[in-house]
Amino acid sequence: MTTMTTRKPSSAYVHIPFCSQICYYCDFAKVYIKNQPVDRYITTLLAEFAAEQITSLKTLYIGGGTPTALSAAQLDRLLSGLRQGLEMSALQEFTVEANPGDLSDDKIAVLKHHQVNRVSLGVQTFNPRLLKKIGRSHTPEDVLETIAKLRAAGFDNITIDLIYALPGQTLADVEEDLDILLSLNLPHVALYSLILENHTIFMNKMRRGRLDLPSEETDFEMYTYIMDRLQAAGYAHYEISNFGQKGYQSAHNLMYWDNAEYYGFGAGASGYVAGVRYKNHVPIHHYLERSDKKVVRDKLSLKEQIEEELFLGLRKQSGINTQAFTTKFGQDFDLVYGKVVADLIDRQLLNRVGQQISLTRQGLLLGNDVFQAFLLDDDQNFLLQ
Ligand code: SF4
Repeated sequence: MTTMTTRKPSSAYVHIPFCSQICYYCDFAKVYIKNQPVDRYITTLLAEFAAEQITSLKTLYIGGGTPTALSAAQLDRLLSGLRQGLEMSALQEFTVEANPGDLSDDKIAVLKHHQVNRVSLGVQTFNPRLLKKIGRSHTPEDVLETIAKLRAAGFDNITIDLIYALPGQTLADVEEDLDILLSLNLPHVALYSLILENHTIFMNKMRRGRLDLPSEETDFEMYTYIMDRLQAAGYAHYEISNFGQKGYQSAHNLMYWDNAEYYGFGAGASGYVAGVRYKNHVPIHHYLERSDKKVVRDKLSLKEQIEEELFLGLRKQSGINTQAFTTKFGQDFDLVYGKVVADLIDRQLLNRVGQQISLTRQGLLLGNDVFQAFLLDDDQNFLLQ
């Protein structure tokens, strides 16, 4: 029995680690763009991409950092290089992340020229006081203007990221963000609860007792409000943090939650190819200088593969299909997880309808408790079969 696929991945992630500001909550692989070797980075990244000799992809996602912190000429060179040798008619979803303040007319023209068909804007909130508080340099007006310009250029597939449970944010603030969001009638939105990460300005403030975060109860209230409001407005809540109108679910992100394989290019990018997860070197100068860009982890054990399948799959509204699990891993789902699932159903955290297992509304709120229950003991018998 093997779960390893011999097919080449049909998705790729490309990381641009430069930003024109550093946000207080961010722990992504990124640096302030000033005085960075951006052109050399693009050259190195394109060489890494070319070495894989990829001719066909279904989804290509350029994230960061901030890809639109590049100049229009640099963006043009990057996108030209990535497209070289790619059969563009096969590429269903081509996403570029952008910061509202960065998207000038010439950059939008570059995206259009290279057939980018999805733009993801890092909005975070429409509240000017909160934008300042989290270290963002754009204004709410920048967001509205950028969306109008993108639409005028023919982009209809626009998604925005919003964050809730920000310091000093109230439920009324979240309601206002949702009012503005819905007035824009965007086809897709991702909403994340603020997570405090190590080595961020916010974590420093927290340690010094200077961060007024909403309570866990308020966080739940905000999430519940967001779910209800967006569902009532016709958005499918297709993943814990993602909501889409019909036909606008992100194919690239669904690929991650389906536990499929993908390439990762650029400093700090992760990939999953031929059953092996890897992460590229970071910081940038390590990535530029090493001839082998990847730090490869051991091939995943069966136990790790099964746990990842559950953690990722249960994030989706559709959840996990027990028959598909059995086919993929050669293990009877109920022998492995029957007791765990029965217990979580008793606690009203999981639903089971036929072969489909998914989080309940309560399960969405307590996702981490559910995921922990699916961790396997090292010595579980089924692994020896
Ligand atoms: S949140 Fe985005 S724009 Fe802000 S520092 Fe992080 S990667 Fe850069």
